[in-house]
Amino acid sequence: MKEVDQLYKIRHSLAHIMAQAVLEHYPKAKMGFGPPVDNGFYYDFDFGTEKISSEDFKKIEKSMYKIINQKQEFSIYYKPLDEAIELLAGMDQSYKVEYAKELVETGQAEDQGLSFYVNGSFTDMCEGPHINNTGEIPPKCFKLDRISGSYWRGDEKKPMLTRIYGLAFENEEELKDYIRRRELAMQRDHRKLGAELEIFLIDDEVGTGLPLWLPNGAVIRAELEAWAKDVEFKAGYHHVSTPSLSKSTLYLRSGHLPYYAESMFPPMVLDENTEYYLRPMNCPHHHKIYGFRPRSYRELPYRLAEYGDMFRYEKHGSLSGLLRVRAMCLNDAHIYCEYDQVKEEFAKVMDLYKYYYDYLRLGNFRVRLSLHDSESDKYVKDEEEWQFSEDIVREILNENKIDFIEERGEAAFYGPKVDIQIKNLLGREETVSTCQLDFVMAKRFDLWYSAKDGTMKQPYILHRAPLSTHERMISFLIEFWGGAFPTWMAPNQVMLIPVNEGVVDYAMEMKQKMTELGIRCDIDVSDDSFNKKIRKAVTKKTPNMWIIGENEKAEGTITWRRYCVQDQIKMSADAAIDKIVHLRTNRIMDNFADVQI
Ligand SMILES: [Zn+2]
Ligand SMILES: [Zn+2]
Repeated sequence: MKEVDQLYKIRHSLAHIMAQAVLEHYPKAKMGFGPPVDNGFYYDFDFGTEKISSEDFKKIEKSMYKIINQKQEFSIYYKPLDEAIELLAGMDQSYKVEYAKELVETGQAEDQGLSFYVNGSFTDMCEGPHINNTGEIPPKCFKLDRISGSYWRGDEKKPMLTRIYGLAFENEEELKDYIRRRELAMQRDHRKLGAELEIFLIDDEVGTGLPLWLPNGAVIRAELEAWAKDVEFKAGYHHVSTPSLSKSTLYLRSGHLPYYAESMFPPMVLDENTEYYLRPMNCPHHHKIYGFRPRSYRELPYRLAEYGDMFRYEKHGSLSGLLRVRAMCLNDAHIYCEYDQVKEEFAKVMDLYKYYYDYLRLGNFRVRLSLHDSESDKYVKDEEEWQFSEDIVREILNENKIDFIEERGEAAFYGPKVDIQIKNLLGREETVSTCQLDFVMAKRFDLWYSAKDGTMKQPYILHRAPLSTHERMISFLIEFWGGAFPTWMAPNQVMLIPVNEGVVDYAMEMKQKMTELGIRCDIDVSDDSFNKKIRKAVTKKTPNMWIIGENEKAEGTITWRRYCVQDQIKMSADAAIDKIVHLRTNRIMDNFADVQI
């Protein structure tokens, strides 16, 4: 029997209890599968001609509570196949009969036969495990959630069953917390906010997975890029620009063909039988730049950076908003260094990650050390180098007191990597970005430098992308910040709100002044009431609203309201403009209420 925790057993037992309650009300219902899942459990039923809706949840839940209060014992017994089938057929459970036969035919049944769990009047063919008795279910820890259709065995040629989902957690508080977070996640879903705030567009005629960045989204991208370039410039990076297309020979050399072929788009045949590929990674182009002339140890570490466009073939069904796309732009860089510089450079890159994530307040990120799997053919064969590189990265993480977990079989094909993972609002972990140590590409691309001792050596290469792709990073920022960007990134930095016609000229004058300073601002000249104008600006998550009335016009002032702050302050228009310039130039994170401006 598999090792599982108590919550798993609670969820699995609740699936049985729900089926038991459902059969009480719908004795003719036929059961499909009923497993525990991440946030609770479900069970599939064939209700025949009977209709069921979420309005029936109350009576089912009531019966479930009755079963729980009766503290029914769970017990297990085994039956040989023919007896098992007879039993299930007697229960009129045709789907279970079909599955039982399959288990035996495919040799999945245990020697003792098929296992059955019984509690009270209910019997289900099941592997378990379960809690000891139904009384162990914590009070109010579960709730029937929703109904959906689901094909038997996930096969659209088979009957459509009715799936009833339940949520279940360790206690009532955690259940409520989950429901609250799910509500928030729905409100903040980047696909929903991305449309409302006009950040990006997915157009069917262009294709799913190929987002179009609207003017507001283009501003956010440009600001992130400018920031990255400033930070990278200070950290000694050189910026380059390379094309998104390359001949197949480049990817044969790099090993992307064949190691990475399934993530690449099929080739285009041009120039009489030359194959060209859309690039899935920027590395090979950068290696060409490193290698175009002889390099000396004096140039190392040599850091090449580019916000580079890339294209990856993701299955159509997996495409979703900005999170799973086919065209993306990566905050990429490659650092070419000597053996004894690897540690220091890797540590610097980890510092950079920390700097960015703290700055953006992306909360606690988790670090995963992804190692190769020597059994798999997904990785370059060189056990000695793998050993060395994996040890080095582990050492760096330990020396820098970075907590991490290790996972086999998640490395890049050319070296181990550190994955930075953050939890989304529902607590699911997503890899935001990675840093890799590469011992393969210098050999493949014939990259060298003349060392201090006069010999020729091959550099180690670090691949890093702390700000991830624009697509992934911006989807996270939208969700974590609820669409409220700080002034420096905000598509519209200041909304001028004139309270009547008579002050529009003053507002225009201010807009003119700010536009010349490169400040993104707008005036609400609509006929809407003052309150509605404020509401509109808040809905658009404009970080700064400047209210302009007769007094303000007469005094040369504005009344300033910040997006996330209740208080408003009056100040001279010139001082206010200076402040916006300050917020922008210093990239102040004023989308958090605790930040003084
Ligand atoms: Zn079960
Ligand atoms: Zn790379």
